[in-house]
Amino acid sequence: MYARVIVDIAHSQTDRVFEYSCPDDMAVGCRVKVPFGGRIVEGFVIGLCDTPSFAAEKIKPVSEVYDEQPALVPECFSLMEGIARRYRVPRAASLRLFLPSEMRLGKVSEVYRKYLRFTGAEGEIRASAKKQLAALDELKGGDKPYTAMCERHSRSAINALVGKGLAEVYKVRRNRTPIPADGGEEAAKTLTPAQTAAVEYIEKSDKRVQLIHGVTGSGKTEIYLTLIARQLAAGRSAIFLVPEISLTPQMLGQLRRRFGAQAAILHSGLSAGERFDEWWRLRSGEAKIAIGARSAIFAPLENIGVIIIDEEHDSSYNSETAPRYSTADIAKMRAEYNGCKLILGSATPSVESYIEASEGRYGLVTLTERINGKPMPEILIADMRREVRRGNPSNLSAMLRAELDEALSTGNQAIIFLNRRGYSQTVICTDCGYVAKCENCDVSLTYHSEENCLKCHYCGAKYRMPSACPECGGRHLRYSGTGTQRVVAELKELYPSARILRMDNDTVTGKDGHYKILKSFADREADILVGTQMIAKGHDFPSVTLVGILDADMSLHFSDYRSGERTFQLITQVAGRSGRAGAKGRVVLQTYSPENYILRYAVAYDYRGFFENEVKMRKAALFPPYSLICRVMVVAERDDEAIEALREAYTAVEKLRAASPQEFIFLNKMHSPIKKIQGKVRYQVLMRLRTKALLSDIYDIAVAASKPSVLVYVEENPANLS
Ligand code: ADP
Ligand code: ZN
Repeated sequence: MYARVIVDIAHSQTDRVFEYSCPDDMAVGCRVKVPFGGRIVEGFVIGLCDTPSFAAEKIKPVSEVYDEQPALVPECFSLMEGIARRYRVPRAASLRLFLPSEMRLGKVSEVYRKYLRFTGAEGEIRASAKKQLAALDELKGGDKPYTAMCERHSRSAINALVGKGLAEVYKVRRNRTPIPADGGEEAAKTLTPAQTAAVEYIEKSDKRVQLIHGVTGSGKTEIYLTLIARQLAAGRSAIFLVPEISLTPQMLGQLRRRFGAQAAILHSGLSAGERFDEWWRLRSGEAKIAIGARSAIFAPLENIGVIIIDEEHDSSYNSETAPRYSTADIAKMRAEYNGCKLILGSATPSVESYIEASEGRYGLVTLTERINGKPMPEILIADMRREVRRGNPSNLSAMLRAELDEALSTGNQAIIFLNRRGYSQTVICTDCGYVAKCENCDVSLTYHSEENCLKCHYCGAKYRMPSACPECGGRHLRYSGTGTQRVVAELKELYPSARILRMDNDTVTGKDGHYKILKSFADREADILVGTQMIAKGHDFPSVTLVGILDADMSLHFSDYRSGERTFQLITQVAGRSGRAGAKGRVVLQTYSPENYILRYAVAYDYRGFFENEVKMRKAALFPPYSLICRVMVVAERDDEAIEALREAYTAVEKLRAASPQEFIFLNKMHSPIKKIQGKVRYQVLMRLRTKALLSDIYDIAVAASKPSVLVYVEENPANLS
């Protein structure tokens, strides 16, 4: 028997199938160790054959098989080709996506515990071998952990017992259940007519991808759960993706209560061992539902009956490390392979998805009503230009303060949202215009009052707050902009008796950080929650009747074709936190451009209006999806090496343009907007293309221009152009 092996070296030169002779009981999907170029490397068995494709005497044997059961599901081998082709990565790199990293790094043995047991055999032990005798005595009293026995009686004594056949080692998989099953079981709810219609429509539709556009609180989750339950009943499995799992503890609790041990949760907050256990429960078929963020799309499930991507518009579904895949693309491949539906859900679908649905390529379910019949919260606009004219220096408009007074005096809770953490955006010298910047990253630093220091939000470096300007020595250093800390300070002054919580990257630490803050707010241990976009999703807070959005403009002025879409999404999502139960909710939206059409659509909850306008503009200006923005990034320690690679890539792209000029709307090479991050210089070839026709050539150019010391990669419609 011969094994067809992909070696686990992600390099284009080793990216082919190698053959090794192997035992007859070898299974496809197992991981092996094989001799390769004078060393022993890890590899994946992707196929078996009876006759090798070249001289049998030249074929070396597999050195070791170290999976008892194949780690990879058969589907991997089909997807491996698709991913490798689509994102131009070696096949080994695409296979790695299907394994938890702790498994690849050879830490797997940690998840097993070795035990020793007495075999019952008769054997000779010399009376002088006291340690062996003592160990055997102990074993006769019952099985014992192997390592503890070695510590007590010495490893050599234990090995001698095993060698004589008196004791044997066996492995037990440790079970670490990550999240305790909280609150018992929960039965399915009786679906509303709208939910029933949605489930029926989706199941009957012959379209592979289904978009559910449902306002916040319209009961999308219950539709997902019903679809999953029906697939489980039919003997199939399911994948359920959420943007960031630590932000959705309620959703997890709900899934656990509904599906019990059939649900496995894969997320980065778990310890390596816990993650492995959950992964293995899926692989072994013990659990049938994989729940997690982006990477859970690679869950080791077979016979998948439905894949769900909740909050499908969220940018976290795009991987920012190689391969830079889009989760929906991978999900489509898996749905195709398994012959199942892919469900995309959102209150604010991405423009791209909604176009697919409105042009009939995706199915579309629209839910316009909240389950409890409550109206959407009213959104009021506070014109901040008037506040400035009135001489209000505060970050809080008069309107927001009046609403806060009302909410707090009636015993309700409020959420204040803004985009920036820290005390203020930047420190500026008003004499010479100096702005404090990070030495490694070419971005301005943010003042943090609690530690009285300046921090870089890109690399985490901390700097002492200067008492005078380092450039001109002037003493007039001013903070400009607003951050979460500063807002909290202002609120404390205005409402001394209110209890205020802050949630941003600085206050959220540790594995349960998010959960603790959200839970404390949900338990009404605070009156006001101030936070960054982390608070836009997540918990359902019944007592929140007011949401303040301090800087709705912030995202509007990014020079990015998606800024309008993002602003609309953000306002709608944040507003959805208000008035979910009892009293009617209100939202105060502070802005310097109240006449902006995006804000007007958001205030009216007019997704269709927003969408139609957006499509018209993108068509006219040739922005995605009516074009493709493509960026070849060049990142290196050394400037000269980066520039050389940049030239090489650019010259190659220019050749493409010479051959098909009609494909190019725009092409240029330049510094990236942030010239340096973590000490590495950043350059880019930026282009806008009419179609995807040249995409694979551009991937080839990036592969050809990269060197061990220069990272060159392609981004398609990047969510972030920094
Ligand atoms: P969405 O995901 O669309 O924002 P949710 O699924 O969170 O909405 O539903 C909003 C609220 O309505 C939740 O509290 C949920 O428990 C409740 N709910 C959903 N479906 C039903 C139903 N069929 N009967 C009763 N309550 C429901
Ligand atoms: Zn930095």
